[in-house]
Amino acid sequence: MLFSPQQFKQQFPLFSQPENCELVYLDNAATTHRPQVVIDAVADFYRTSNANTHRSSHRLARRATEMVEATRIAAGRFLNAAEPSEVIFTRGSTEGLNLLASSLTENLSPGDEIVLTTAEHHANLVPWQMAAQRHDLILKFVPHKNGVPQFDRVEEVLSERTKIVSVTAASNALGFMADLGPLKQVLADRNIRWIVDAAQLAAHQVVDAQTIGCDFLVCSAHKFYGPTGVGLLYGRRESLAALPPWQGGGEMIEQVQLQSSTYGAPPHRFETGTSSLAAIAGLGACLQFLQQLDRDAMAAYEQQLTDYLHQQLQKLPGIDLLSNAESNVGIATFAPAVESALQATDIAHWLDGRDIAVRAGRHCAMPLMELRSGHGSSVRASIAAYNSRNDIDRLIESLQNCLAATQSNSSLVTTADADHLEELSIEQLRQQRGWQQRYRQLMKWADAIAPKPGIRTVGNRVRGCEAATWVSHRMVDDRHQFFIDSEARVVKGLAALLLLLVNNKTTAEIAALDMDALFADLGLEKHLSPSRSNGFRALVNRVLQLSGSLLG
Ligand code: PMP
Repeated sequence: MLFSPQQFKQQFPLFSQPENCELVYLDNAATTHRPQVVIDAVADFYRTSNANTHRSSHRLARRATEMVEATRIAAGRFLNAAEPSEVIFTRGSTEGLNLLASSLTENLSPGDEIVLTTAEHHANLVPWQMAAQRHDLILKFVPHKNGVPQFDRVEEVLSERTKIVSVTAASNALGFMADLGPLKQVLADRNIRWIVDAAQLAAHQVVDAQTIGCDFLVCSAHKFYGPTGVGLLYGRRESLAALPPWQGGGEMIEQVQLQSSTYGAPPHRFETGTSSLAAIAGLGACLQFLQQLDRDAMAAYEQQLTDYLHQQLQKLPGIDLLSNAESNVGIATFAPAVESALQATDIAHWLDGRDIAVRAGRHCAMPLMELRSGHGSSVRASIAAYNSRNDIDRLIESLQNCLAATQSNSSLVTTADADHLEELSIEQLRQQRGWQQRYRQLMKWADAIAPKPGIRTVGNRVRGCEAATWVSHRMVDDRHQFFIDSEARVVKGLAALLLLLVNNKTTAEIAALDMDALFADLGLEKHLSPSRSNGFRALVNRVLQLSGSLLG
């Protein structure tokens, strides 16, 4: 093998900082770290070459302009563009997709159609929704199996009104790479603009825009060891030539009169204002850095890690593995088993406590995650070429400990732990005359909350609540059940009130509650001490988060 992960990792100074020497970083799908050469190039730009590009004729401006254009040439090679002018610098994939969603739809007619997949990152969904609303367009979705697009069935959603197809090359949530071959064949002789979101793919595979055959492709440098604030939009020459500009301003014009202007040619037509020049310098260094590596060997190494990660996760009882190792850009996504009282966020907090960085949530791909799992949120561990088997072993060992701690403590909530809320009603509380009586009633209500030693785990602890308080949660069919315990009597009383509102309710019922109004009506905010009030707010937020009504 022509790739050494150890040597590769040594080039990333973040890992040699004393506080990071134990760090296991598995959140690379969100962003990777940067090698020293990239960090140096960003700093050197400011130290030695800082000037604005394309405008002034002095020495520094010429040098900065040459740097930008040299980076464009390197970026053209990186994506195998036919010529450098097919590459536009953007702020990132999101900006590239917004540019396309805005410019490509400008001249469409109501009823025209855009085809997407259900696996898109929100960045390749929301801009199209906005454009569709603006121009009365229709969004259609490629048939899928378990969330994976079936491009061999794309004809089923194409029509004479289809003007745009925009699809991801690799899922940021589940890691699968799409087989774009059938799409290329079907779109070859149709007048449809085809966009590929390569934000994840570019970090793990050599991207060849000409072989893919698309009109446009986007990616972000920070996903492949480059700086934040810069991305690439590739556009085939003819496709770019026909594209109206997105933003107006300096740099993108030819002639400006008071009432109208003429626009420059691509790529500058799409690079309005001052670009992130230091980031472009960093990107230039990053592309050189990548060019010196055997990227196929790097991809093979990452695939080995991906296989190993999935094999190890599969062996863990108590979690549901949502991703497959096959054709995967290094992403393993899993959730605690449905019957578990653990939440994905609990696992992520547990891992964070052991210096293992993963991501919990819906990974900016809510429709896909809703389709794929009954779990509200999941944990994503994502690999880069500086990761090792040892990182994966640390993850698996910590996960085992987390699951074991939950199980041994909790066999979770038993019938002996059941709360006795049957006799309580909010009306009882409301009818008390004055706050003193109401407070006394709450203190009595505390007895209805059974002690639950099983849920007193680190992961269940409510952050921001001064008195130690724990919440766990499970779904029974489509209804939420919460289990709360606290060291403070008044918090238990407040927990009883909260449970009367949310227990055994559906997500929609919980989302529809106007708790603020009710709590104000009961005088809670007014009479509770500030720390108690903040603690109660933290408890309410945690419950809402677990119910999926508040984003975590
Ligand atoms: N598309 C995909 C598939 C992504 O993974 C991401 C980033 N997570 C984006 C688009 C948006 O990229 P950026 O935040 O760099 O604009």
